[in-house]
Amino acid sequence: MSQSFPHSPTLLERAQRYAAALWRHAADGLRITSPDELARRLAICQHCPSGEFDGAGCRVCGCPVNSTENSLRNKLAMASETCPRGHWQAEGATAIQRPRLTVGMCMVDDFDGVYFTVQALNLYHRELRGQLEILVVDNRPRLDDHGSSPEAAAQTGETPSQRVRNLMAMIPNGRYLPYTNRQGTAARDQVFEQARGEVVICVDSHVLIAPGALRRTLDWLDEHPGFHGLFQGPLEYDNGSVSTHQVRTWGAGMLGQWALDSRYRGDDGPALDIDLQGLGLFGCWRDDWLGFNPHFREFGGEEGYVHDKYRAAGRPVVCLPWLRWIHRFQATGQHANYASSMRQRIKNYIHGRIELDQDLDDIHAHFYGVEPYGLGRDPQEWIELLRECDAECESATRTQEWQSTAAPTGDDCAGG
Ligand code: SF4
Repeated sequence: MSQSFPHSPTLLERAQRYAAALWRHAADGLRITSPDELARRLAICQHCPSGEFDGAGCRVCGCPVNSTENSLRNKLAMASETCPRGHWQAEGATAIQRPRLTVGMCMVDDFDGVYFTVQALNLYHRELRGQLEILVVDNRPRLDDHGSSPEAAAQTGETPSQRVRNLMAMIPNGRYLPYTNRQGTAARDQVFEQARGEVVICVDSHVLIAPGALRRTLDWLDEHPGFHGLFQGPLEYDNGSVSTHQVRTWGAGMLGQWALDSRYRGDDGPALDIDLQGLGLFGCWRDDWLGFNPHFREFGGEEGYVHDKYRAAGRPVVCLPWLRWIHRFQATGQHANYASSMRQRIKNYIHGRIELDQDLDDIHAHFYGVEPYGLGRDPQEWIELLRECDAECESATRTQEWQSTAAPTGDDCAGG
């Protein structure tokens, strides 16, 4: 039965009703709603039939309405609460409503990047209101101390994690999830794992997406119901030029060098089959995500690997030309605060090749080949890393194979 609120409540009345809700919640043993029920309630409030949702709370009862699972900050998470207008209980409002699209990101100590990425999503893609979920997976959650940013803490008293958590609690379509089971860029698996949207786009925590590009991507997917591949878009640089893809060439310890496809005709051109592309933005239907290799750690090794994994499964990899994105490349040369050792990155490349049953020659040539094209690393390290990868895979195959054949000289570092 709906509660009766005859006039718009004053601030004092709203505060009193919120206090009463908290009291009922305490009397109910602080029972919280399930994540699916919370999502269902949130979807109803975001399209409130009475127009009472003000972006942060319910105007009728004065309670905060958002996506956080912290019931003390969110009426939707209190199992004891009901909609004062009866909309949650209305017939036809029982199905779990999923957003059409989740744009998600992993972050490590990057409040500024997350702030502008999240705000730009809502500001420049308003046509998706009610259809868009924004998800932040914090891969170094420091919610109880000042983490690695004592300077920031001295100024604000908060860690980047605390600031991002608080931000996402205020964003009506936002969610914040701490995640530490696996650390490194492959933690982006969690974006697909935790997303509630039917389509998922994963971005770095400091990426801006061209206005209209998300709507157009959803329309394109509707027009291509048989598409079950991976889609990406052109990287746009500060000077307005773009890179549609990467070519399979090694450089500075990374596979993939930025390039422009001669078939590119701007936003209105057709989708382009591509070999690989930087993973600052990539997406697919949530159920079509094939996942990163479970042995990937720290930073890198995914470009080329994930694209080959889709093709090996008979699924295309395309560049959607309108899906332009701008990436805040780190002036410091750090990889967005992820741990990043060259040893682990080489292991990531090896693990990817083992999984896809591909050869390792170009990896060896680049990292252990002759400088300046090769990186000239200690050849003994290669055997150590093969052994470590074999042990992690519980297989001795690659080490034995490598030792039984003549290793290449490493003069050819073009890869591929
Ligand atoms: S609680 Fe009910 S009245 Fe309030 S915003 Fe949500 S749906 Fe609307």
